[in-house]
Amino acid sequence: MAKPLIKVDFKASPEKQPYLHNRWHPEIPMVAWVKPGDEFRIECIDWTGGQIANDNNAKDVQVVDLSKVHYLSGPIGVKGAEPGDLLVVDLLDVGVLPESAWGFTGIFAKENGGGFLTDQYPDARKACWNFSGLYANSRHIPRVEFAGIIHPGLIGCLPSKELLSTWNTREGALFATDPQRVPPLCAMPYAPTAHMGGMAKSKIPKAAAEAARTVPPREHGGNCDIKNLSRGSKIFFPVYVKGGGLSMGDIHFSQGDGEITFCGAIEMAGFLDVRVSIIKGGMKMYGIKNPIFQPSPVEPKYSRFLIFEGISVDESGKQHYLDATVAYRQACLNAIEYLKKFGYSGEQAYAILGTAPVEGHISGIVDIPNACATLYLPTEIFDFPMMPTSAGPTKFVDGKADLAVVK
Ligand code: ZN
Repeated sequence: MAKPLIKVDFKASPEKQPYLHNRWHPEIPMVAWVKPGDEFRIECIDWTGGQIANDNNAKDVQVVDLSKVHYLSGPIGVKGAEPGDLLVVDLLDVGVLPESAWGFTGIFAKENGGGFLTDQYPDARKACWNFSGLYANSRHIPRVEFAGIIHPGLIGCLPSKELLSTWNTREGALFATDPQRVPPLCAMPYAPTAHMGGMAKSKIPKAAAEAARTVPPREHGGNCDIKNLSRGSKIFFPVYVKGGGLSMGDIHFSQGDGEITFCGAIEMAGFLDVRVSIIKGGMKMYGIKNPIFQPSPVEPKYSRFLIFEGISVDESGKQHYLDATVAYRQACLNAIEYLKKFGYSGEQAYAILGTAPVEGHISGIVDIPNACATLYLPTEIFDFPMMPTSAGPTKFVDGKADLAVVK
């Protein structure tokens, strides 16, 4: 058994727990030091730090304080790890904690977070999920159940001072092109709600003002939200500071490629069992700038899909040049329109695409002017036939249940 290294407290506020942090900064002190070969268990709270409740009101999703996310457990120092090395992380297991055995999916309001389809679905909604062993089901989305592909949405090592400064410069330049945009172009440093772990009080004001937000994926990994980085996978992280400083959180019971509703996976608290080792000088040896990983030998096995195509012509009919984002959005919108024919609301269909083991592919990226993106929807997750036939679709979903609205 992996030995417990970080235990979280669901009754205490996250800010009172020094083994949690919600920013990236090279001076956040290590919570613990381990040796190569060690196996240990890290507990994590959900990414919002308990702001979302298991109820039928989406008010908490509407007003969620996104300046506080993501709460991560760590950083953990690995003895002998130095800048330029690769930190090898085996995700031995990822699981649910009995104190918090449920999950949620939110559609964020356009004025507070938004999502991939925020123009079509601008209002806050919430679905809560029940875990039946390997399977997830929701009282808010009937007639669908699927095996979860459980994974940390966010995992990575601390940045160096230089890397942090690079992030702030390039993201600041993007932000400055349209500072009033809703939702914003990127999340800039914000000191008032920074939780800097166990950092000495005297150091916090300066560090919190420059510490990077945890929202985007970056060179160190971070918030990649890759569903296939699931339990059983092996990840190779670039090391930027002495000891590496490995942190993780934002555990998802399941997620579709793209995590399209933004709070789009099945979000949960949980644990990760981890084993670490080091490849000395591995970054240069293998030409590595961003993490690489080997996926798990154990994943949900769905073999039948209905695949939706999308091209880079947007909703207004405007032609875009090889734009994979526009193309994937069209594939998603096409899948939602299809699911609505069986009785789902648009919001329910949107949430299914964000949570079920849906695959997103860039199928063509050279055939000017249209990129072609495809969305693979596993048909076996529905308890009714959903392939097209000459008889037309039947409304198998009766419309009695829907995602929770703001009350
Ligand atoms: Zn998440």
